[in-house]
Amino acid sequence: MTEKTLKSKSSPAAVRAVSLLLAAAALFCCTACGVKDDGRRSFSLFDLFDTVITVTVFTHDDAEFMEAREIVEETFTHYHRLFDIYNEYEGITNLAVINRMAGEETAADGDIIELILLGKEYERLTEGAVNIAMGSVLRLWHDCRIMAQSDPDNAHIPSEDALFEASLHCDINSVKVDEQKGTVLLEDPMMSLDVGAIAKGYAADKAAKRLKSLGLCFLINCGGAVLAGEKPDGSPWTAGITDPMGKGEYAAIVQLKNDALSTSGSYLRSFTVGGIDYGHIIDPMTLKPADKLASVSVVCGMEGSACLADALSTACFILGADKAESMLKASGASALFISLSGEQRITEGFPLNE
Ligand code: AMP
Ligand code: MG
Repeated sequence: MTEKTLKSKSSPAAVRAVSLLLAAAALFCCTACGVKDDGRRSFSLFDLFDTVITVTVFTHDDAEFMEAREIVEETFTHYHRLFDIYNEYEGITNLAVINRMAGEETAADGDIIELILLGKEYERLTEGAVNIAMGSVLRLWHDCRIMAQSDPDNAHIPSEDALFEASLHCDINSVKVDEQKGTVLLEDPMMSLDVGAIAKGYAADKAAKRLKSLGLCFLINCGGAVLAGEKPDGSPWTAGITDPMGKGEYAAIVQLKNDALSTSGSYLRSFTVGGIDYGHIIDPMTLKPADKLASVSVVCGMEGSACLADALSTACFILGADKAESMLKASGASALFISLSGEQRITEGFPLNE
């Protein structure tokens, strides 16, 4: 692993002008920027995946731009509903339904089956750090976060007993998929799925596939899950990675070309109890929020999958740089780790724009 201490960079004006992506979530604000001379235009969606989705495409053709926008909106809306674990929608067997049906074999959409199989693969790859079957534990933390936001005076964290009891229902091997029949069975009736660690990346991969079929050059950012194709002139995209300490505009700038980038950080979603911040990424070993790092950004190159980058960034955030090294190497990925004191460490091949 290459270790390097880097100074926080403010984004140069030129980069800021052209950079329509941020590696971390929620900082995009334009809804429909004008067309630039090179045909570049962007739009943002604000109501899906509990984040901001921003897409940039190159086209001089208004109809083509509208078509791209419709396709992207349709794709993300579809997956937002399909992978929603809190709400059911008429006519769709989504993950909320699959969770409600725990204990019974349920017919499932092909995308749900594909995502669950990926989740099982990533659980093995990350040696259990990322486990989509941890819904029971994640729900306890989620509910406390929502409660803390609506009623800060009564903010609290889950009890040790409740966490321990929930942790008895997180065995990924109890999630059975029958591809032939197209069914899912959560063998343990007390278990539930939470695909928050990988769903944004999965949806970004699917949206990218559809934009590619239109022949468009694109860049997609779904709340920190970024997928960059090629630009028409063959040059790389420039992406800013948000400073998790909130000091500078960007902690680093990276170059992306047919790459996936994903950032995980507790600064993205946390709540405070008794002066202590609790993040949304839970370490399965402690059942508590991972607190080794401020953020991690992972790049998967060569037509990289945003879903894999998404899984890896969550895993790296839990494992820390030393433990994550072999996992990153095995996946052909590289990462930027930012410590709680703001120090940066990159692994070999991380595409910093220096
Ligand atoms: P990300 O922002 O991609 O790092 O994913 C964070 C989300 O993943 C959380 O909001 C939870 O829904 C879910 N999550 C948190 N911890 C874990 C974990 N250890 N394994 C699987 N999913 C997790
Ligand atoms: Mg993730």
